[in-house]
Amino acid sequence: MKSNQELIKLTNKYVAKNYGRYPIGLVRGKGTAVWDASGKKYIDFVAGLAVNNLGHCPPTVVKAIRKQAGKLLHVSNLYHIEPQSQLASELTRLTFADKFFFCNSGTEANEAAIKLARRWFYDNGQPKRFEIITMRDSFHGRTMASLSATAQKKIHTGFTPLLPGFKYVPFNNIAAFKKALTKKICAVLIEPVQGEGGVNLAQETYLKSLRKICNEKGILLIFDEIQTGFGRTGSLFAYERYKIKPDIITLAKALGGGIAIGAMGSTNKIIESFSPGTHGATFGGNPLACAASLASLKNLTKKGFLQKASSQGDYFLKQLYCLKEKFSIIREVRGVGLMLAVELDQPGANVVTDCMEEGLLINCIQQNTIRFLPPLIIKRKEIDLLITTLSKIFTKMQQ
Ligand SMILES: *Cc1c(COP(=O)(O)O)cnc(C)c1O
Repeated sequence: MKSNQELIKLTNKYVAKNYGRYPIGLVRGKGTAVWDASGKKYIDFVAGLAVNNLGHCPPTVVKAIRKQAGKLLHVSNLYHIEPQSQLASELTRLTFADKFFFCNSGTEANEAAIKLARRWFYDNGQPKRFEIITMRDSFHGRTMASLSATAQKKIHTGFTPLLPGFKYVPFNNIAAFKKALTKKICAVLIEPVQGEGGVNLAQETYLKSLRKICNEKGILLIFDEIQTGFGRTGSLFAYERYKIKPDIITLAKALGGGIAIGAMGSTNKIIESFSPGTHGATFGGNPLACAASLASLKNLTKKGFLQKASSQGDYFLKQLYCLKEKFSIIREVRGVGLMLAVELDQPGANVVTDCMEEGLLINCIQQNTIRFLPPLIIKRKEIDLLITTLSKIFTKMQQ
């Protein structure tokens, strides 16, 4: 096996440098922990960026993958695929949606939602109604339509011209939203809790107003739950917390229990516009990914699982508020469930590297914001260890 240093050298020589990587190579994972090439253990508060909600290598998911791998890996969507139909059936049972389309990533799920919204109005005799309102500081992915929907300059730089048909408004501002409405607007695309944008929570009144206006004007409400889905915010999906239903939902990240898969779901009336030949993805809904996803969903929906995760999140949040009382460098504490963040009055990059030294993986976004997305099986004593470590680091920073 290669050492951390050998692995870093190999990556730097042969892999495109579009990621800023930390100087460790991770080789093994189990539950809430991962190990690097030197054998050092880390408690993982990143969880593959909200992918490993059940922790690393959850036994039932691994078992399902092994079983499916020996049976059928791929056949294409020219045929019926049992794990795919089963997964769709399970997802419709768990959501407002009647049917699902499958792809392989979050950005693809959003591309599908954007295409479906446009196509639905086209099919209903309004081909010029194609504009989609999205939110400032949103994040919807890196392919051309999704990055055009993403209202963050740093994601756009050097990639213009963007895809036309997106209009950006400030988050949680209903007046600005109303002002942006024209006859061309076909949909609104929003994360109920913005992830990459800084863990910004939508206000309940805001989402309810959006729902109401969308109903009045016949606009489609699309929730990007790629990061908030699968228990991350304490309920299986964040929209349940707000007691409203979107018209379209996009899913990925934790959907596959660690395997790449994305999905877009909607009601029968709307998703009918995805008629034969309108859209597709070769690997979308392949047997392996769907088998993994089914096994993962079975765990997530076990009685008491999400309640436990939600109460760990409440405990975690409370501890972060205690830190805020003690340290003036903390500007704000935000989050819900196990999607939490601490905004500092200065860059947080050194907090990440200091934590890594101490065997804790965390993530920094928007320069000053430290984000915590642990597996939903995180233990109190692991949260306590992180809090103690942060406390030491912040003490040093305030001196
Ligand atoms: C990660 C993310 C995406 C993009 O998903 P990929 O699988 O990286 O394409 C889109 N929307 C949200 C809210 C995300 O967090």
